[in-house]
Amino acid sequence: MPAVLRVALPVPLPALFDYLPPAAGEAGVGARVLVPFGRQRMVGVVVAIDAEAAVESRRLKQALRLLDDDALLDPELMQTLAWAADYWLGAPGEAYANALPLALREAKPLPPIGDEYWSLTLAGRSAHDAGSRRGGSKALLAVLADGALSAQELGERQPGWREAARRLAAAGLLERSERAPADRARPASPAPQLSDEQQQAVAAVGAALGNYQPFLLDGVTGSGKTEVYLALIEQVLAQGRQALLLVPEIGLAPQTVRRLRQRLGVIVEVLHSGLSEGDRARAWLRARAGSARVILGTRSAVFTPLPQAGLIIVDEEHDSAYKQQDGFRYHARDLALVRGRALGVPVLLGSGTPSLESLANAAAGRYRTLHLRARPGAIRPPQVQIVDMRAQRLQHGLSPALLAAVADTVARGEQALVFRNRRGYAPVLLCHSCGWHAACPQCDRPLTLHAGRRQLVCHHCEHRQRVPPVCPVCGVGDLKPQGHGTERLEEALVSLFPQVPVWRVDRETTRRRDAFDQLLAQLQDDAPAILVGTQMLAKGHDLPNLTLVAIVGVDEGLHSIDFRAEERLAQLVVQVAGRAGRARKPGRVLLQTHQPEHPLLRKLLAHGYAAAAADLLQERRRTQLPPYSHQVLLRADAPQRDHVDAFLHEARSLLPVLDDLQIAGPMQAPMPLRAGRQRGQLLLESPQRNVLRAMLRPWQHALFALPSARRVRWSLDVDPIDL
Ligand code: ADP
Ligand code: ZN
Ligand code: ZN
Repeated sequence: MPAVLRVALPVPLPALFDYLPPAAGEAGVGARVLVPFGRQRMVGVVVAIDAEAAVESRRLKQALRLLDDDALLDPELMQTLAWAADYWLGAPGEAYANALPLALREAKPLPPIGDEYWSLTLAGRSAHDAGSRRGGSKALLAVLADGALSAQELGERQPGWREAARRLAAAGLLERSERAPADRARPASPAPQLSDEQQQAVAAVGAALGNYQPFLLDGVTGSGKTEVYLALIEQVLAQGRQALLLVPEIGLAPQTVRRLRQRLGVIVEVLHSGLSEGDRARAWLRARAGSARVILGTRSAVFTPLPQAGLIIVDEEHDSAYKQQDGFRYHARDLALVRGRALGVPVLLGSGTPSLESLANAAAGRYRTLHLRARPGAIRPPQVQIVDMRAQRLQHGLSPALLAAVADTVARGEQALVFRNRRGYAPVLLCHSCGWHAACPQCDRPLTLHAGRRQLVCHHCEHRQRVPPVCPVCGVGDLKPQGHGTERLEEALVSLFPQVPVWRVDRETTRRRDAFDQLLAQLQDDAPAILVGTQMLAKGHDLPNLTLVAIVGVDEGLHSIDFRAEERLAQLVVQVAGRAGRARKPGRVLLQTHQPEHPLLRKLLAHGYAAAAADLLQERRRTQLPPYSHQVLLRADAPQRDHVDAFLHEARSLLPVLDDLQIAGPMQAPMPLRAGRQRGQLLLESPQRNVLRAMLRPWQHALFALPSARRVRWSLDVDPIDL
């Protein structure tokens, strides 16, 4: 009897598929095979080789071709992926599809992994000498005039160079070559003398190298966490091992990338969504070959192969960007811990505002906590003050105290940040005569007015429409924008402070990657400026001249039905506040609210994040919410409400009755209608993870078999982070 290959295929079914081995080659576990699937051909990963098939082997199809002589995925990754697919109830094939860069999911030979170099051809040199090109092409010719450069070096010197390189290569002026990857010995810039706390943190993690041990590095922004990472990565490199550093979002961290490259003097592979698929595959393969020693990436980089793993770091571990919200719903922080255990390396979770999950793990002794309490650069932590906006005469939604503080700041030649977590001009457009407001026909939520684009935009789906000239219902009423988004605040601040540059930083104004980078560079200058921005500004950018942070419009977070809203609000306030006074100048933070007495705000301001988080944790324990219980959410949506209801009711009836299993629903989703689809959900909760785990797979299989499941789109989310 021939052996049978169990293959994971990228289809959303919780199953592996059996094939007979291909005619040629010895397919091993972790290798890719090309197989027939229905009328298509698919690339799958061999997960196991069994002596016998689940189906009679006569009826099995044969794999068409073996794509890898050696396993592409090593045993550790195979094991971790199997675990992850099981834990997050993913289809096995989807887990593998997340782990492999797109270019490696095609039936093509692996791309060469040497460094990509570009140089001038003879014609290119003449063109440079003659100065015959313009713009980006001219600049690229000049950059290459002194000799060949790697793609990575080009990326550092000339953002957007690829476009020009393509043009010039097509014209025969440039050529591309591959060279063996080498650690170009670049001079590493010297490290600062670490503080005692930093040294203790480095020593603690350093002593654990070679073993699995989770650490929580608790230190506010500016407390020197990155220096701790750098010192540890240096140790790991000195041992000839690899370090993986995860960050929530790379586009927003150009400074971190630069700092790592300058300090470490080795190649830092950066994995992010802006990479071309070819580059991503090459970086992944270099990590697999061990030639990439430092890998910096976002969520999906947690799947990078690390044959010589030394350390995994998850920066800003509390950030919800680590949780994938569709398809395979894994959490990169949690997966990093699983990998750390499998690889036998320490995992360092860093944050100034740790998640309640991590704080609970630390309190239970599962993580060792390291504190960075002092801020090395700053004189003292920013002073935070509540501005009571009740009964105030607001100007453009801003209180007199807040405006006075902005005026003082810019008069001193310093920079102020007005933080508002809402894009657009106004969140609502309202008719003053009849009370009509513009709402999304697909989602039933107010449309946001974007004045610059003269559009009403739904922030929940892609719907957009023109602004009506008069009220479409009564035909007479004046349409008045209600509330203030960043665009409106920008307009107000420009008119109030005409002599100071006002910069708006949100997804609209920073669509171009380098625009944000350039703005950050400009703000390094010692000149006054006012920034208006969303969450994007909350992340760790070093702005030495920023001394005032004014936070407006956070009251929504105090009333949300989401039990995580208060945790997120506390994190956001602390993160944004951390922007103030990073360098030599002391910072000040104003928090404008209608609820100056709110216990969370009081606690946060008087005693800091740790105290506020402790209160929130106690509340979670009292109400038996995560991390003191475990949740699984079944979501369903369909154009028709009764299809959703029917499915969820049947799903519920399939659940066992258990003491330790609470079931809430079926109920409407917090947003009952979105993009034209009716949404509902069923929430399972248990204080015992095992209770849930034992019933989930059988239940999931039963759900697939329900006829009512075919009329809805449904998914299971283990440890959901938004309900
Ligand atoms: P975090 O990552 O916690 O936000 P950083 O490591 O970026 O903190 O440090 C904040 C600032 O302080 C940076 O400009 C950094 O260069 C500087 N810094 C950190 N540690 C030291 C130190 N031991 N001595 C001097 N400057 C330091
Ligand atoms: Zn009207
Ligand atoms: Zn919508």
